[in-house]
Amino acid sequence: MPAQLQLPTPATTSTPASAAFAAPALTTSPDTSANRNSALERRARLTARLAKLAAAGYLAPLARQIGSLGGCTRPIRMTGHRTRLDTATGQILDHLDTRHLPAGELLLRCGNRRTTRCPACSTLYRYDTYQLIAAGLRGGKTIPTSVATHPRVFATLTAPGFGPVHNQPGTTPCTCGTRHADGDPLLGTPLNPQRYDYTGAVLWNAHAPALWARFTTHLRREIANAAGLTQRTLRHHATLSYEPLRV
Ligand SMILES: [Zn+2]
Ligand SMILES: [Zn+2]
Repeated sequence: MPAQLQLPTPATTSTPASAAFAAPALTTSPDTSANRNSALERRARLTARLAKLAAAGYLAPLARQIGSLGGCTRPIRMTGHRTRLDTATGQILDHLDTRHLPAGELLLRCGNRRTTRCPACSTLYRYDTYQLIAAGLRGGKTIPTSVATHPRVFATLTAPGFGPVHNQPGTTPCTCGTRHADGDPLLGTPLNPQRYDYTGAVLWNAHAPALWARFTTHLRREIANAAGLTQRTLRHHATLSYEPLRV
């Protein structure tokens, strides 16, 4: 997937003028409503800004910083400073002040799993998940290859429904008779709002974390019991792992 580079928002006037990178980023054209809508002028402004960054020698470090995001389109922007000390001697090992970074901020990958939020991070997440599952099935990445002979179960747990909703059931239309397009605001909303159990839906979601915690505790206990093991020894024989699926 091609990396989508986005220049970070320039630092505001709160950044000291002496800080690296701040000065060229502040010299932008006035952003009036007349030229805001012009893609051509926007491109010209961006080119001019890039040229100034390049002339001042900031472009390469900035490109390196943005490149480390791996194409993340919604990086988390952190500001502040961090100092690492040797606890024994008190000696300063390193000091990081985000104002001195090329972008004036520490940029971190958003790590979002949704393609609509961040294509690059969601792709990386999918690859990582695949590699993790593959290693669990056939070995590799510190997992012995003997796991390939182990029995395993993939169980999908679905939250309860509280009434029929508009959906896209494959090749057939929705119960309402319509073929809903992606992004149709009706999708996921009740077919019959008068009969939908809103109270049940709210209560279930409010208690979902506690329900899940109890479920996982009991599942481990039940599996150990069924295998004639204690919960402590179960971990030498079986691994339980969970992956939330958000749709
Ligand atoms: Zn991202
Ligand atoms: Zn429908």
